[in-house]
Amino acid sequence: MRFLVVGSGFAGAVLAREIADHSEHHVDVVEARDHIGGNCYTEKESETGVTVHRYGAHIFHTSNLDVWKYIHRFTEMMPFINRPKASIEKGIFSLPVNLHTINQFYAKKFSPLEARQFIDAIRRQDITEPQNFEEQALHFMGEDLYRAFFHGYTKKHWGCEPREIPASVLKRLPLRFNYNDNYYSSLYQGIPKGGYTAIFERLLDHPRLSLTLNHRWQPDDGRSYDHVFYSGPLDGFHGHRRGRLGYRTVFWEEHIETGDVLGHPGINFPSMDVSFTRRREHKHYEYWKQFDKSIVFTEYSKETGLEDEPYYPKRLTADKALMNDYLSDCMQTERTSFMGRLGLYTYMDMHQVIAESLSLARDFITAIAAGQPRPIFPEGFRRQLVASGSRLRP
Ligand code: UDP
Repeated sequence: MRFLVVGSGFAGAVLAREIADHSEHHVDVVEARDHIGGNCYTEKESETGVTVHRYGAHIFHTSNLDVWKYIHRFTEMMPFINRPKASIEKGIFSLPVNLHTINQFYAKKFSPLEARQFIDAIRRQDITEPQNFEEQALHFMGEDLYRAFFHGYTKKHWGCEPREIPASVLKRLPLRFNYNDNYYSSLYQGIPKGGYTAIFERLLDHPRLSLTLNHRWQPDDGRSYDHVFYSGPLDGFHGHRRGRLGYRTVFWEEHIETGDVLGHPGINFPSMDVSFTRRREHKHYEYWKQFDKSIVFTEYSKETGLEDEPYYPKRLTADKALMNDYLSDCMQTERTSFMGRLGLYTYMDMHQVIAESLSLARDFITAIAAGQPRPIFPEGFRRQLVASGSRLRP
């Protein structure tokens, strides 16, 4: 049998490698861009020698030991804890919002208990079931911290009012009543020593895998294959025939200076007074090396145009209705499975995508061993159907 994998980001590359490793079948991978790795792609910038994360800084984190062990087959991980800062009119603050942030912001010396009592007194306890990002933030932390750190950033990043964004987006971030400023709550975290691209080179280095770059998927591509695994945009697969799903894209201004520019890997700019959202100084992600020069990426956000790479599924109410219709179309699509952030139109992190592809590959290999290659719907797909209120069940 022959299988086609569309996309060489983590979703496609892990899936392809698993099938090649655990079956005798051949897998072709097609990639629309001129490089592998999707938005995780890294490369050495020629003037500075710094490994830049071309599509925005990616910090690997997971609490899933299987995923952590899996990634170590393909790279050494250097210890790294993400501790971004926020620059607002009042000064530079620690993120995620923690006891240091609260004490600095209110010029207090609260203990954890005092801070909790203080926030309890100002947060919107009357919002019992937050329906959107804004309500979730007001319920968690009250008006002041929300306005200072979240309102402007979210408006700029998502291009709409925070009350239009799902509450789940804010739930990605912790609010802490101690001095733990680790942005993530994951058990394991790190930066791949040789950059992300080397991981993808190793993932795709297998005698039963072949890769074609610069090939944008066409509906006819799957004809000669027994099964297609598609990790491109969900609406694109269906030729956008029901309309376009909303995605945000990001873009950067880059500049090179000597020395240390930010003094830190990442500073966010939540205020509406500046039009960008964050700045990243990539050499600080490669802290074990010395560089004379430094490159800084200043990040902006905008709606995804026809020529832009989609990054963030917006999942506004109208998007979810459209997504639901496309998901029903997927269930009628023979010999095809959907996966990844774009294929499932879900805001997933790298480790979640890898876990999803590992389990999808396992299920598929079991199915072909039993002589029944069939569309396999990953956990994320099933969750989407339930969340969107669909009565369809894969
Ligand atoms: N966010 C914010 N201010 C910040 C950082 C994040 O308002 O300084 C909000 C924003 O809406 C963002 C969401 O929290 O989209 C999730 O942030 P995260 O850092 O997880 O976003 P990512 O790194 O995936 O872009």
